[in-house]
Amino acid sequence: MFGTREQFQYFICAACDTLQIHSVLSGEELGRHYPADYYSYETSQQPKFLRWLTTRHDRRELRTGGRFFGAVIAALPTGVRLALGDAVRAVGQCGLGRDARILDVGCGSGALLDRLSRAGFTNLSGADPFLARDCTTPEGVLLLKSHLHAVTGSFDLIMFNHSLEHVPDPVATLKDAREKLSAGGICLVRLPTTSSEAWTTYGPDWFQIDAPRHVVIPSRQGMALAADAVGLRVDRTSDDSSVAQFIGSEAYRRDIPLTELTSLRSLLKLFGARRIWDWDRRAALLNRQGRGDQTGFVLRAVPSRGSRTGTSGRSFQGSAAGAILRHLGSEPKCWHSRGV
Ligand SMILES: [Zn+2]
Repeated sequence: MFGTREQFQYFICAACDTLQIHSVLSGEELGRHYPADYYSYETSQQPKFLRWLTTRHDRRELRTGGRFFGAVIAALPTGVRLALGDAVRAVGQCGLGRDARILDVGCGSGALLDRLSRAGFTNLSGADPFLARDCTTPEGVLLLKSHLHAVTGSFDLIMFNHSLEHVPDPVATLKDAREKLSAGGICLVRLPTTSSEAWTTYGPDWFQIDAPRHVVIPSRQGMALAADAVGLRVDRTSDDSSVAQFIGSEAYRRDIPLTELTSLRSLLKLFGARRIWDWDRRAALLNRQGRGDQTGFVLRAVPSRGSRTGTSGRSFQGSAAGAILRHLGSEPKCWHSRGV
């Protein structure tokens, strides 16, 4: 992304095609790869006009009004809508009431929570261990400087918007989420996936590997296995990949970091309008086919079978993952075959 051109080793699970970094970085070594401007890529500081447009869009996705302007925005190409984000759409598809208790894990500056607040949601909070301190957003949403396991309370929706692939132990984090879900609660995990045309086509140049920040990039099967390991199951998925998968990966093929693609003019000069338009349509097609390079997994709790400890502590024996575990053998182990 930032053009450091350092190399990092990843391994691919032979059984499920999940991609995982070989050695998880930590401390200063990891911090070095999150420069101060990293979060500015999702800042809530938007021009007023764009913010107004975004709220109209969100209200349409969440069915709280604003139909006309929402429809205008929905007609924009996916590449343009990318700037508005599809997280709100994913929340809209969960069919929650305005008073649903919603927790955004890895919330950053809380921009998404503010959008949900402006769209009418009233029971919002965020958690992110990389915040400087506990704080509130401009819309008054509480953000905790905290890991998920230290957050108290029960939630109707716990969501990870491109954050789970960053955490050092994503299966343990999913388990924490499972334990904080209310009865009938939903866990929404939006992240890149290797079950995609982009990974097949671009391999190491696929821009969503984003080494070394992404620790685990699951295949669709890998996510199902990991969910199974902590007492969750995949209810459905909804792809929301965009033209970015082509632009970013084609740039990497040409050894151009994302930070150099700063303007529309530079994009047009590099690829031409026609090609970008074609990529945009291809992204929409891939999403319909379930071959987009990012998706939202809607996970629901599997009712525990009378056990006091629920399903969270059980081993893989007898589960679908048992065969996978044996197939993998010893190290390195895929994320779903690690104990939690
Ligand atoms: Zn695997």
